[in-house]
Amino acid sequence: MFKAFLIKYAEIGLKGKNRFLFENALRDRIQEALNPLGNFMVSKEQGRVFVECPEVYDYEETMGVLQKVFGISSICPVVVLDSSDWDDLTRGVGDYIEASYPDRHITFKVEAKRADKNYPRTSPEICADMGAYLLKRFPEMKVDVHEPDVRFTVEVRTKSYVYSINLPGLGGMPVGTNGKAMLLLSGGIDSPVAGYMIAKRGVSMAATYFHAPPYTSERAKQKVVDLAEKIAKYTGEIKLYVVNFTDIQLYIYDQCPHEELTIIMRRYMMKIAEKLAEKEGCLGLVTGESIGQVASQTMHSLAATNEVCTMPVYRPLIAFDKQDIVEIAEKIDTFETSIQPFEDCCTIFVAKHPVTKPNIKTIQHSERNLEEKIDAMLETAINTAECIHVGA
Ligand code: ATP
Ligand code: MG
Repeated sequence: MFKAFLIKYAEIGLKGKNRFLFENALRDRIQEALNPLGNFMVSKEQGRVFVECPEVYDYEETMGVLQKVFGISSICPVVVLDSSDWDDLTRGVGDYIEASYPDRHITFKVEAKRADKNYPRTSPEICADMGAYLLKRFPEMKVDVHEPDVRFTVEVRTKSYVYSINLPGLGGMPVGTNGKAMLLLSGGIDSPVAGYMIAKRGVSMAATYFHAPPYTSERAKQKVVDLAEKIAKYTGEIKLYVVNFTDIQLYIYDQCPHEELTIIMRRYMMKIAEKLAEKEGCLGLVTGESIGQVASQTMHSLAATNEVCTMPVYRPLIAFDKQDIVEIAEKIDTFETSIQPFEDCCTIFVAKHPVTKPNIKTIQHSERNLEEKIDAMLETAINTAECIHVGA
C-alpha cells in the first residue's frame, strides 16, 4: 500500500547556515542504509527527506532500517496516487482509510498542501470537500479540527501523496556530521552502549579491542566483532583494531605491584587507543566507564586512567546505573551478545584486592619498572594491530 516514506527531522533543522550539510548527510545515511534492501530513491525537499520505494519491498524490514538511522524524528508511510483527478483522489484516500483503520470510530481532520497552484481546488477547498466525502463514506468518523485522533494529510503535486501515520525515529544527528571518535570496545555490556550513544550525536566510530591470547580465546574476540557488527547497524562502518595486549600485560604483571595491575593496564590501553585514534583522525576516545561501577572506575581510578591521554575522553555512561545501561543494551540488541560468558583480558590478570584509590604518583613510580621495554612493546602492539572492517 505504501509506496514512499516521508522522513521528518527535528534537531538538524536548527543548524542555521550549515543546515544543508546535515540534510545531505541524513539523505546519504538513509540511502546507504536502504541500498542493501533494494532500489530505493532518497531525496531531500523542503525541510524533510523523501524515500521512494521500489515496486516490491518489505515494509517491516524497511521500517526496521529507517528506525536505526540517527537524525530522524519521525517516519510517515505515504500512499502515492498516480492521478490527482478529484474522483481518484477522494477514492484513493477513502480506500486508504478503509484498509488502514478497521475501527473507524475516530475523529479526524484533513490537511491539504498544494504544490500545483493550477489545481482546480484551493487547499481549504480540498480540506472541506475531502472532509465531506469522508463523512459520507464513513458515517462513524467525526471531524475535530482542534484535537483529532488522526490527521490525514493530502499533498497534491503531479501525483498525490496521502499520509496519516507518524512512527518515531531514533532522534539524534546523522552519523558523520560531527567528526570521529575511537571507542574502546570490550566484550562487556557497557562499551557498545557508550559507542551507540556518542554515534547518536553524529559522530562516526572506529574501535579498539585489547585481546590477550591465549588467555582470551578466539571466541572472546569473535564476540567483540559481533558487538561491533550490532552497533554498526546504527553507526555505519566501523574499523575495528584488535591489539595484541598479552606481552604488555605479562610485563606489567612481572614488574608492578599486583593491586595496581588493573589501573596500570588501563593506562596503557588508553595510550595505545589514543595513538590509534590519532592515526584514524579521531578527535576523542569513548569508554563505557561509569563512576563507582568497579574498582577501576572510582573517581580516583578514573583520574589515574585519564591522566595519560591528552585527547578528550568521552564517557557517556558516567552517571548511569547498571540497570539503565542494560535497558539500552537490550533496546539496541547488544545485551544477549554481551552476556556470553567469555573471558576478558581485564579479569584474567585481576588482583584479589585491587586499589580503589590509586595515587597517581605511586602509579607513576611503579611504572618506572617498565621503562626498559615498554616503549618498544607499545610500538609493536600498535604496529601489529589487526584491522577488521565491520559493517562495510
Ligand atoms: P564493559 O561492559 O564495557 O566491558 P566493564 O564494566 O567491564 O565495561 P572495565 O572492564 O573496567 O568495565 O572497562 C571499562 C572500559 O574500558 C570499558 O567500558 C571499555 O571502554 C574499556 N575496556 C575494558 N576492557 C577493554 C578491552 N579488552 N578492549 C577494549 N576496551 C576495553
Ligand atoms: Mg569489560
